[in-house]
Order: sequence, then C-alpha cells, then structure tokens
Amino acid sequence: MVTQNYNEVKKLVENSEAISKRNQGDVTLIAVSKTKPASSIEELYNAGVRDFGENKVQEMCEKYEVLPNDIRWHLIGHLQTNKVKYIIDKVHLIHSVDSVKLANQIEKEAAKKNIVANILVEVNVAREESKFGLDTLEVMQFVTDIAKLPHIKINGLMTVAPFVDDPEKNRGIFKKLKQLSVDIDKKNIDNVSMNVLSMGMSRDFNVAIEEGSTMVRVGTSIFGERNYNR
Ligand SMILES: *Cc1c(COP(=O)(O)O)cnc(C)c1O
Repeated sequence: MVTQNYNEVKKLVENSEAISKRNQGDVTLIAVSKTKPASSIEELYNAGVRDFGENKVQEMCEKYEVLPNDIRWHLIGHLQTNKVKYIIDKVHLIHSVDSVKLANQIEKEAAKKNIVANILVEVNVAREESKFGLDTLEVMQFVTDIAKLPHIKINGLMTVAPFVDDPEKNRGIFKKLKQLSVDIDKKNIDNVSMNVLSMGMSRDFNVAIEEGSTMVRVGTSIFGERNYNR
C-alpha cells in the first residue's frame, strides 16, 4: 500500500516537473516517515527509496539504528542545540537551521567529527507565529554571517507553508522563497550555494514544483494520516 502510494506521488511529481519544463529528476521526493514504524520505511527502502524525512531527533536516531545505513535522513523539524550531537554524523541534510546559536552548535559538533554539515536555512515566509524560521528580511544577513563557519555548507532554503485547503493559496509563498534564493545566489557568497529549495508537502507540492521547488516533503499522501496519540 505504502509503495503504491509512493509511486502515485512520484508520478504526480514527474507530471509537475514536465508541466513546469523542469528536467525529470530535478525534484527529490522525500518520504516523511515521522510517527510511522520502521517496517513502513523498510518496505519503501526495498522498493528503492532512499530519502526519508523525520522531525524528531530521538525518533530519527531509533530508526537509524535499525535501518540500512545508505538511507539519506533529512531532519525537517525544529532542532534544539543540545540535540545536535546525536544526529550530526547521521543526517544527510538539516532543513531547519534558523538561528546563529544553532548554526554555531552545528559548527562545533561537525568540527569534532571532522565533517561538513549540509544545511538549509528555514524561512517563515508566511510569518505565522506558530512556525519556526527566519523572517524573510533577516535571511540575507544570516546567510552572510554563518557562511563563514568552515564545517557548515549552506545548500539552500526551506519553508513550511501554511496549511491550506487550496494549494493555489500558497503559490505566492513559494514564489517569494524562490526569489529570495535567486537574490542570495546573485551575491556569490563564498561557501553558499542555493541549489536546494525545500518546499511543498502533501497538499501543495504540485504548486511548489511549478514555482521552483527541488525537494518536496510528503508524508500523509504516502503513509496515510498520522496518529499522534499512540
Ligand atoms: C510533517 C511534515 C511534512 C509532511 O507533511 P504532510 O502534509 O503529511 O505531507 C513536511 N514538512 C515538515 C517540516 C513536516 O513536519
């Protein structure tokens, strides 16, 4: 069932790539497996899927221990500084960097392991109070500041758009994030690339891809509704 869902979403992703004249394979589909058992991840793994998204450090670590080590783990949820040490050498990409304090901690832990941590800067484009992420106006300065950290590589931007019934309502948000990444790219800051734009979830990934997303994070449409009361 999960594999069938994944394949259907994958097809829709490819459709959106075609509609927006993007190259096939431009967009990475991340299967967001939070709250779902390792067995569901294993099923998709056996079907060839390698990119999985988790939003909690402990849950990601537990799954990491029992699943194959060529899985690319994406940390998409808020990251507390005191938990960086648990994931620094396990995670493929941290999507949710939104403070200098957190960036400094990632730098420190990555330096200890002698690795370079790949990160995205989280932007709260819609300025929702309930959400993490920097204000759009703060991003340029933030990127300039943390670009100097030698054990961090900024790969691009991420946003969590509002929960809407009609995906068209988020088109403006996606356009803004894309424009911001273009503006940053133009500055040619050392150690900064804007190759990744992580935007789009189950309800709106088609619109996000049309507006330039390169990574969509899809949970519900692949794994079904989440039950947080288990
Ligand atoms: C849960 C989550 C997703 C997936 O959301 P769905 O609506 O289930 O596709 C994507 N991004 C983040 C940051 C999430 O926490």
